[in-house]
Amino acid sequence: MSILPQHFPEILRIKPSVTRVTDSYMWLASKSGTYSAKSGYYAATTMETEAPIENQRTFKTIWNRKTSPKLQLFLWKVVQGALVLGENLAKRGLMANVACRYCGEIETSEHIFLHCYHTRQIWSNTIWTSNFNPANCDSFSEAFLASGSSIMLPPWGLVGDIFPWIVWGIWTARNLYIFENRVLTPVEILTKAIRSEKEWHQARASITQPRPSLTHSRLWLDLHLPTERPTAPGYGDILEYIFSPSS
Ligand SMILES: [Zn+2]
Repeated sequence: MSILPQHFPEILRIKPSVTRVTDSYMWLASKSGTYSAKSGYYAATTMETEAPIENQRTFKTIWNRKTSPKLQLFLWKVVQGALVLGENLAKRGLMANVACRYCGEIETSEHIFLHCYHTRQIWSNTIWTSNFNPANCDSFSEAFLASGSSIMLPPWGLVGDIFPWIVWGIWTARNLYIFENRVLTPVEILTKAIRSEKEWHQARASITQPRPSLTHSRLWLDLHLPTERPTAPGYGDILEYIFSPSS
C-alpha cells in the first residue's frame, strides 16, 4: 500500500475468488482474455480516438510525418506518456528516479525535450528560418506541430525534418547519462541528429531511386555489342581448319 498509495481504494475493492482459483493475467480487450495483435491494434486505435482533441491532431500528424517509422513510434510514445520518464514513474508510485539527471527538476516530457537547461542549449542554435524555438513552447505537442511548418536554414544541408531526430538524440543521450554515466554535449547531440537524418535520407533515396528498366539495359547491350566479325580467327575457324578434308 505504501508503494502504490493511489491504487489503495481499487485494491480494497478486489474480491478474492470463493473457489480459491489462483490469480492470473487477463487481456480485457478480447473476449477470450488472451492477447492478440488484432485486439492490441484495436485497443491502441480506440485510445487515440478517446484522447483529447489536441493529442488526436498530434497523433495524425505523427503518422503522416515524413520520417523514420522508428521515430514515428517514439514521438507517439512521448505524446502518449508511455516513456519511462520521472513523471510517469511517479504516477505509478515509483518515486526513486523522478528527477532530471541534468538539473534535478521533475522529469516531464516538456522538461527533458524542451525546457531543461541542457536541452535549451541545443534549441538555441538557429535551425529554422523563422524565430521558432521549441524551448518557448508550453507543450511537446505544440513544439512538434510548429516544427512541421517551420523551414530549416540552408546551411544545415537538410532536406527532411530534423525535429524528431533531435528529440530522439536528447532521449538517447539522457539514457546514456543515466545508465552508462556518459555525458554528450549539446553540440554532440545536434551533430549526431543531423548526421542520422542525412543517412536516413540517403538510404531511403537509394531504395526509392528507379532502377534501369529492362528495355534500357537491352538497348545498352545492343549498342555495345560488336557489329563486325572479329578479324582474328574464332573458335569455329580453328575447328574448320583442323577438320578440313584437305589438311
Ligand atoms: Zn533538467
